[in-house]
Amino acid sequence: MVVSSYKLRLYPTKNQENKLNDTIEICRILYNDFIFESHLAYKEGYKIKFDELQRMIPAMIPKDKVYSKVAQMVLWQFYNNLKTLSALIQRGKRTGNLRFKSKSRFHSINYNQSGFKFLPDNKIKFSKIGKIKCIIHRKIQGKIKEIHVKKELTGDWYAIVVCENELKSICSLFRKKIVGIDVGINNFVYDSDGHVIKHPQLLRKSKKKLKRSQRKLSKKIKNSNNRWKQKLNLARIHQKIKNQRNDFLHKTSRYYVDNYDTIFVEELKIQNMIKNHYLAKSISDSSWNSFFQKLEYKAARAGILFKKISPYNTSQKCSMCNNIVKKSLAQRTHNCPFCGFKIDRDHNAARNIKQKGLDSLPLEWREVTPLERRPLTITSIRYSQVISRNEEIHHFD
Ligand SMILES: [Zn+2]
Repeated sequence: MVVSSYKLRLYPTKNQENKLNDTIEICRILYNDFIFESHLAYKEGYKIKFDELQRMIPAMIPKDKVYSKVAQMVLWQFYNNLKTLSALIQRGKRTGNLRFKSKSRFHSINYNQSGFKFLPDNKIKFSKIGKIKCIIHRKIQGKIKEIHVKKELTGDWYAIVVCENELKSICSLFRKKIVGIDVGINNFVYDSDGHVIKHPQLLRKSKKKLKRSQRKLSKKIKNSNNRWKQKLNLARIHQKIKNQRNDFLHKTSRYYVDNYDTIFVEELKIQNMIKNHYLAKSISDSSWNSFFQKLEYKAARAGILFKKISPYNTSQKCSMCNNIVKKSLAQRTHNCPFCGFKIDRDHNAARNIKQKGLDSLPLEWREVTPLERRPLTITSIRYSQVISRNEEIHHFD
């Protein structure tokens, strides 16, 4: 099973929004009541059970206002937090008690399995709330398990639809359309077919707005109305950047899943890269990790092979003759002194990723057409060595 989620913007009416706010508030109080009850029991030397709390729910909430399953999910949330906490304690971590949730820390409710229905006219019906208008920009695939209705800091409402998809077994043994993807600082991706996707410029534009807004905020007087307004403005820009980035990542991953049947990427060493201050900003900008996650679940859903391979030597090796050609980060072109192969360094890396991926597959999964190789033009003693090495590597059976 693969779990994936969709974030849909909701457009509740004023009345619906009031109901949503009320429900969230009731659930927040309910959550805090659970903490209170368990503390009380604990003081009396007694550990309160899940069932006992569950039986208390009807008396704790106004029944006509909150869908009963939504209230149940608050108990699950409480229970899971409790479990996480005791797991931490067992591992010897020092932790406090569960904390009461303040209004600023509780902004979503959860419809699990029932209480919601997608209607044909771009609306979702939520029990006790009503039919809320929403925008569905991508087809929702799989079985819907739950919907989180969430209020963002901007005051915008979203439905996070969580779906489960059965994993299609990877049945095709003949891999026809194979791609290696290199992610980098200069371009967002460079693939083994020479296709380049630049870093999204839209984000940069929003970044300027962001800076301006942050600057303005710093000048506002604390606790003033204007400061609050500026905060809202800033939250809106953050939200927009998040949406733009997500959209870009979805489209890019979709492109690869639609056009290939085998996708190789290299394992990111983000921790190391972030230590390098110059790289850190670009990395957080482009969210490669999130890109890989999207590739992974989209591929799983489509029955496509997605695999991460070790990045060892992928940028230094010549993808034509397999000799190591050392180069610094600043050198953008791979220029092989052994075979004369000249290519963009990221393109070279992508070709190596593809080959390394293929080499990592079990024999029966490997396709028998390796990378297209240009006829070698230089003659030297190395020449014959190169040929024999290539044959060794690409002879699969
Ligand atoms: Zn070479």
